[in-house]
Amino acid sequence: MLSVFDLFKIGIGPSSSHTVGPMLASKAFADLLLEQGVLDQVQRIKVNLYGSLALTGEGHGTVAAAVLGLEGNTPRGIDPESIAPRMQALRASEPLHLAGKFDIAFDPDRDVELHKHLFLPQHANGMRIYAFAADGHELLRETYFSVGGGFILTEAQLAAPQTGQSDDDIPYSFCNSAELMALCREHGKTMAQLVLANECTKLDEVEIRRRLLEIAAVMQGSVARGYQHEGRLPGPFAVKRRAPALYQRLLAMHMEGRADVMLWPTLYAIAVSEENASGGRIVTAPTNGAAGIIPAVLQYYRDFTPGANDEGIVDFLLTAAAIGMLYKMNASISGAEVGCQGEVGVACSMAAGAYCAVLGGTLAQVENAAEIAMEHHLGLTCDPVGGQVQVPCVERNGVAAEKAIKIAQLALLEDGQHLVSLDKVIETMYRTGLDMKNSYKETSLGGLALTVAQPEC
Ligand code: SF4
Repeated sequence: MLSVFDLFKIGIGPSSSHTVGPMLASKAFADLLLEQGVLDQVQRIKVNLYGSLALTGEGHGTVAAAVLGLEGNTPRGIDPESIAPRMQALRASEPLHLAGKFDIAFDPDRDVELHKHLFLPQHANGMRIYAFAADGHELLRETYFSVGGGFILTEAQLAAPQTGQSDDDIPYSFCNSAELMALCREHGKTMAQLVLANECTKLDEVEIRRRLLEIAAVMQGSVARGYQHEGRLPGPFAVKRRAPALYQRLLAMHMEGRADVMLWPTLYAIAVSEENASGGRIVTAPTNGAAGIIPAVLQYYRDFTPGANDEGIVDFLLTAAAIGMLYKMNASISGAEVGCQGEVGVACSMAAGAYCAVLGGTLAQVENAAEIAMEHHLGLTCDPVGGQVQVPCVERNGVAAEKAIKIAQLALLEDGQHLVSLDKVIETMYRTGLDMKNSYKETSLGGLALTVAQPEC
């Protein structure tokens, strides 16, 4: 079973699959060199990025992530402000501090190769890292796949047969929504209570709550920082950051009593997404491209829901995680695998179900909310302009955040009975994603990425 802490990870922007995953893969490779006792024999490291990682790697900060992971950095631990200066130093011939322990010569522009036209057959986001000794012989080679949401698998792990067996050590293992709902009914628990009981086999409950509130605080911080950071997003389009001006305008309208309250979650999500797009500190939720939606709905819960408290925040995150696990286990949360329906669609589904739960929704209403949210994201493609997680991503998060709240409220008006089950919509999303052409799956070769890059007639 997955953990709530697999779905929500404190890290950096702009992409979970293209920034967080590659940094973790490189760190794992450096750790392996250390573990195998060959670190001090390394003369040269080579990193090959394939497929989507190569095609949109520059805009997603993949090269920097892969390089700085080799130095032992993690997405959670690294100071986002240190990334650009460190890369500049390496490009100016400073040695690479391999695993944080051993210096070697390394030129990011020579030693990281982007294979834009080569997709490894197993997954669109492949990377292969080599370590060579002074005499040129290969000391170690490993292939990693960044499979979405910051999850990485080695070639062997990806090839391992999926048994579908559940973890015997946890009290409530489930593989799909029907099983989750049946367990909740049988044991008289909400989704949040059931996930919490599972988590308690690994961690003390007080610690689980502390960590969840820490995650919520980082989410809240990313909303607040998004309001403050004026200027432009990195990249060739120099897209203007909109959140600070929108915040001032909305605040003024609010003071005059003429602001539509539903503009707030849109603004919150834009603020977080702009933080993400600029490589700032955010929570992967469950991916970085869609990192604005859950914090925005949670912020809306805090600001506009009577009786909002820490208990509700914990329940919100646990419920969202339960729903996210269903997608991760039965479909995908990777834009490179299934398009944006797997990122923004999944985050919207998690947020809608979670908000419905903290408003007092029944199990059936929560499932209904999660289902509606995905049903109306089916087929959503991933076409980031210029390979940057900016257009359409930032605005798309804003729209989805508002949608999640409305959907939760809609589900609460009904009794939860509906034709399309959450399991069916998850299956449909996955099949639709597999049918989608590669040009619409985080390659920036189709959709807006193509039309915006073309000159106007
Ligand atoms: S279009 Fe969607 S899936 Fe693609 S990078 Fe943007 S947010 Fe992620």
